[in-house]
Amino acid sequence: MQKSIQPEYKEATVTCACGNTFKTGSVKEDLKVEICSACHPFFTGKQKTNDRGGRIDKFNRKYNRDK
Ligand SMILES: [Zn+2]
Repeated sequence: MQKSIQPEYKEATVTCACGNTFKTGSVKEDLKVEICSACHPFFTGKQKTNDRGGRIDKFNRKYNRDK
């Protein structure tokens, strides 16, 4: 293991476009996202228009990858 090339993992504050903030682990201290669990239709249960479909699909793929 080459420890020197491992990025330091620390707590990051994620700020969403909806105004919600939450903590997560990241190599960066501050992150900005356009959508989060608080405003995403999948979590809120509200199904909106399809004009953001591509973005939602991308979001879902990202979450599935975490599991
Ligand atoms: Zn949000």
